[in-house]
Amino acid sequence: MPSHTASEESLKRLAAVETSYDATEIKAVRVLKRSIDARQRTVYVNLKLRVFINEEPDEPAYCPVIYKDVSKSKPVIVAGAGPAGLFAALRLIELGLRPVVLERGKNVHERKKDIALISRQHIVNCESNYNFGEGGAGAFSDGKLYTRSKKRGSAEKILNVFCRHGAPVSILSDAHPHIGTDKLPRVIENMRMQIINCGGEFHFETRVNSFIIDNYKLLGVKTQAGESFMGPLILATGHSARDVYTYLHMRNIALEAKGIAIGVRLEHPQELIDTIQYHKEEGRGDYLPAAEYSFVTQVNGRGVYSFCMCPGGFVVPAASGERQVVVNGMSASGRGSKWANAGMVVEIRPEDFPELKEYGELALMKFQEQLEEKAWLNGGMKQTAPAQRMSDFIQKKASSSLPSSSYTPGLTSSHLHQWMPEFISSRLMEGFRHFGSMSRGFLTNEAQLIGIETRTSSPVRILRDKDSFRHVTIEGLYPCGEGAGYAGGIVSAAIDGERCAEAVASSF
Ligand SMILES: Cc1cc2nc3c(=O)[nH]c(=O)nc-3n(C[C@H](O)[C@H](O)[C@H](O)COP(=O)(O)OP(=O)(O)OC[C@H]3O[C@@H](n4cnc5c(N)ncnc54)[C@H](O)[C@@H]3O)c2cc1C
Repeated sequence: MPSHTASEESLKRLAAVETSYDATEIKAVRVLKRSIDARQRTVYVNLKLRVFINEEPDEPAYCPVIYKDVSKSKPVIVAGAGPAGLFAALRLIELGLRPVVLERGKNVHERKKDIALISRQHIVNCESNYNFGEGGAGAFSDGKLYTRSKKRGSAEKILNVFCRHGAPVSILSDAHPHIGTDKLPRVIENMRMQIINCGGEFHFETRVNSFIIDNYKLLGVKTQAGESFMGPLILATGHSARDVYTYLHMRNIALEAKGIAIGVRLEHPQELIDTIQYHKEEGRGDYLPAAEYSFVTQVNGRGVYSFCMCPGGFVVPAASGERQVVVNGMSASGRGSKWANAGMVVEIRPEDFPELKEYGELALMKFQEQLEEKAWLNGGMKQTAPAQRMSDFIQKKASSSLPSSSYTPGLTSSHLHQWMPEFISSRLMEGFRHFGSMSRGFLTNEAQLIGIETRTSSPVRILRDKDSFRHVTIEGLYPCGEGAGYAGGIVSAAIDGERCAEAVASSF
């Protein structure tokens, strides 16, 4: 029962009952696995425990990683200090190479101030925002750490490295591990200190602007300030660095258009989601976490699904430039807000919008840009976002009022069908009807759609060899992480960062 698992003391009592030892003999309990089964009216917490009887645990709760002194080693440039770049840098150190991290944004502490300005004054700093700066898009994210990646061992290594740098060890046992946006910045700072203490370098407000290439071999990079850094390059600049894609396209460095998903953030009162998911009128009670949901269906040949669900979370303004409104979601470790939000998105393939063909490989990037500008125009030409109640959206009716919201820059009532492509809005409508039929109470005017969610993944793939991870034509260039089109989410980006570091090491 949830109440039996609420604290270490209650777990010890539980262990005493299960093992028939006296409670005083149970010295410690370590949770190896924890998941919640809310499929039936009675909600169970499933646990796998290691029980220490008459002994204290003597090993750390996570596997330590050994980092070397690399101050005199060969340099490797890492562009971008998101999860892919940070984990690439740490893995380079394990392998005896010296990472030189170049990051366009500010350190995670300074970045917080720019993020506050977006909500308070509607000012988006194009170099320091929810996407750019130390920690990348992962820094002020939800910090959910589950991945569909099949590489189980690799995901465990990533979680252990997070723990090594200050993340709670519960992420090693929870079925849905989560750090929370309040704890992530400290973990990221610890990673940076680790890199610097081992002899690596960190350069903030240093944007990679161009490559130094000689006869298909990358020798180094040039920054916006005209400074040069020499060495092979792990390019981990994320899916929002449109200037990087434009540069690669202009220089004919091979890339291809890649499918994305676009839609809205859907926000419900958390109490309502608790009531639905835990099948209880009274809600989740004192011992259960804020409830989650996950939906997926097909409408007219395209997937419609929930994405990055944030129980007890906030909808945030995630634009990275002017004349853009982009929304995303995050939550703190306690998941204590009054709202539940999730991306509700429709799968888009490069062939779905033939009118954008003239943009070639960058067609879906253009599509994102156009929609983000439409959201800005329809949201009030600042960071206020366009929104519509959920049932009104289904009935194609403008909302005369909007419910309260966690989105701090504010909302403007907007008839989303009037500016959102029919390809997306019609599928969202069908999807919502279907999800409402599966889950009574989900389709309601207490919920609202907030536009627009465009940055679900990279709109292009930077082509690399599948074994050597090297770019298909440029030697010394290693496209990496979400921006390169080989990852989606914190853990898979981190795994890809480690892989790229290993690939560079084996090329030396
Ligand atoms: C609000 C929000 C919530 C999210 N929640 C979750 C979640 O709960 N779980 C999850 O798995 N994922 C979540 N994500 C997605 C996750 O953050 C990304 O998948 C992940 O950060 C991708 O990692 P990356 O390192 O490949 O790229 P990024 O994190 O995008 O990092 C790229 C870095 O490169 C830098 N950069 C860009 N261009 C240049 C340049 N020219 N020169 C130098 N530096 C440059 C950027 O400033 C940035 O720091 C969330 C994202 C957001 C925005």
